[in-house]
Amino acid sequence: MELNQNIFRANDIRGIAYEDLTPEVVQSLGRALGSEAIDRNIHEFIVGRDARLSSPEIYDWLSSGIISTGCNLIDIGIVTSPMFYHSTYELNSSSGVVITGSHNPGNYNGFKIVFNKNSTSSEEILNLKRRILEKDFRKGKGISKKEDIKETYIKRILGSIKLNKNLNISIDCGNGAAGVVAKDVYERLGCNVIELYGEPDGSFPNHHPDPSKLINMEDLIKSVKENNSLVGLAFDGDADRLGVISPKGEMIFPDRQMIMFSRQIIQSSPNAKIVFDVKCSKLLSDEIEKLKGRPLICKTGHAFIKQKIRETDALLGGEMSGHIFFNDRWPGFDDGIYAGARMLEIIANSEQDDPFVTVPNMLSTPEINIPASDEEKFQIVKTFIENSNFSDAKTVNIDGIRVEFEKGWGLLRPSNTSPCLVLRFEAETNDHLNKIKKIFYQGLKSIKPNINKF
Ligand SMILES: [Zn+2]
Repeated sequence: MELNQNIFRANDIRGIAYEDLTPEVVQSLGRALGSEAIDRNIHEFIVGRDARLSSPEIYDWLSSGIISTGCNLIDIGIVTSPMFYHSTYELNSSSGVVITGSHNPGNYNGFKIVFNKNSTSSEEILNLKRRILEKDFRKGKGISKKEDIKETYIKRILGSIKLNKNLNISIDCGNGAAGVVAKDVYERLGCNVIELYGEPDGSFPNHHPDPSKLINMEDLIKSVKENNSLVGLAFDGDADRLGVISPKGEMIFPDRQMIMFSRQIIQSSPNAKIVFDVKCSKLLSDEIEKLKGRPLICKTGHAFIKQKIRETDALLGGEMSGHIFFNDRWPGFDDGIYAGARMLEIIANSEQDDPFVTVPNMLSTPEINIPASDEEKFQIVKTFIENSNFSDAKTVNIDGIRVEFEKGWGLLRPSNTSPCLVLRFEAETNDHLNKIKKIFYQGLKSIKPNINKF
């Protein structure tokens, strides 16, 4: 069996369907999962899948592997990743896997795995790899049954949120898994919903299901403006991330969404702890401090955010990529559709027609990526930190370096997932923005002279 070991990532497994994820590889993964489950005294394993074209076949290969170990299987059909997480709170088993390529290109697919309600750690992923390489598998004869968890999922959201008025909203499911449930959720909350691309279709014929990119939000912006919707909500392919459009058609990035969520949470729970990643605006930590909440800055990566929430009992976590974790009247897992419903609650309770105008804004750059090999990226960041002298600024060194000046900040970090450096800048004025960018550019150029201007 040919095994591309790059499919094993920090907290999940991802690769190109049919190329990396061949029948043999996927079946072996199923055997590893079933064997691991039985060794942990778990005898039923939940399996869900997204709407990608390769997902039904991958399901067949994976489930045959799981059953061959003697572990039983609960098939929950086409679901969003959050519906799968919900199922681990709802069904007899609190362990399972969802087959999903998330927001990756259409030819990709992957696996998000949960044991006892927790997403797999990197050690657990390595252990699954070891099982596959050593063929450390159990043998037996499991059985498979089907469960439909859609109704209990909708009821979980309806139990958490009540809207005090009917809202006109637009949503864009991007032909991803959100299409199986999002419209029902919002209609049952009492909204009039204009839906774009609700038909799950893994060829993604309209646009790619990644709401962090403006190009994928253009149709939703148009719908919001044409229909005078109070908000536009969009989801990535497996609906664990949220994109938001204001009534004016402006994209509300996740750090600004977090300002709105933080206000609501701190109001009902004073001194609440709130976790966010190093890419988020300084306006977010300023706002949390102003409201007397407790801002906790964290490394980028949704597993780190989840871990920090668990360690600190934070009531909210979020990252710039759009994963938002509510841990107050929701069990702490990231869910784009639920986060969207929380946004509707804020809109319904607001005295303003457009509550987004109350959220402060600064000038900022999108994420800047500079190619650097996996070997050199860490060394470059290390040398940059050693060479630098930011005596007039506050520095945060938990993930690369974030330098906070009086009128803005800059970030340099090695990417977790790709061979590149990641930079982001934000400032009160264009002048300050350019000044900060220049400091970082000159620092990097002295280490890597052929670096492209940013
Ligand atoms: Zn996703």
